[in-house]
Amino acid sequence: MARLHIFGGDPARNSSDAVAVIGLGRFGASLALELMAGGTEVLGIDPVESVVQDLNGKLTHVVRADATGEEVLRQLGVAEYGRVVVAIGSHLEASILTTSLLLRFGVKDIWAKAVSEAHGTILQQLGVPHVVFPERDMGRRVAHLVRGSMQDYVDLEAGYALIKTRPPSSLIGKSLGQADVRKAHGVTIVARHPDGGEWEDATPSTVLASGDLVLVTGRKRRVEAFAALT
Ligand code: ATP
Repeated sequence: MARLHIFGGDPARNSSDAVAVIGLGRFGASLALELMAGGTEVLGIDPVESVVQDLNGKLTHVVRADATGEEVLRQLGVAEYGRVVVAIGSHLEASILTTSLLLRFGVKDIWAKAVSEAHGTILQQLGVPHVVFPERDMGRRVAHLVRGSMQDYVDLEAGYALIKTRPPSSLIGKSLGQADVRKAHGVTIVARHPDGGEWEDATPSTVLASGDLVLVTGRKRRVEAFAALT
């Protein structure tokens, strides 16, 4: 097999928390750059020359290669990476082949992107521990923002969500303990952001003021209903 052209030294020599990102499209590249910004070493792999050139120097190692080749993954020492992200989407066959190889190599912490429910089901059935649906989840999140009652929405698993919203007027001027928010609304206020101030942890003695923002967690229906209160 031809020698791979690797930018950034030997990818098999990485720190123990390094991450390999396979597929450097919009999702993979943004994920890889965010990991780098947080101080994590990243090996990026993509078969498209222009993609690899764009990221050269911005990731610890960048390689132009087709990850469906078993020998390629071996040569790059991908199995040595504790965490591998398969960010190949619409190239369904490549996503499934690459993921199967990683599972065969015994990589434990695999994160794979799915572009459809069917794609996600296949990845889950193969045994991928973390299947993510960026387009679906972002669509849901933006729908909540478009509706206007909340300023941010994070879909947690098992029917839970975390939102950023303004508290209803009925809670202004009362302490959270006094208002018994959990009992009255079935949600938990975890933090408060006063107008012009900083985020602070919420306690039973926290008193909300108008202009505050709050972080609220609980069952989706409950947090949605809470955000809809005025
Ligand atoms: P985006 O993240 O841009 O939304 P997408 O969901 O449309 O991407 P694809 O276009 O299938 O997904 O793939 C994303 C990236 O994965 C592309 O840059 C593509 O070159 C890369 N890719 C495709 N096949 C392979 C492969 N066999 N090995 C490694 N990377 C691949």
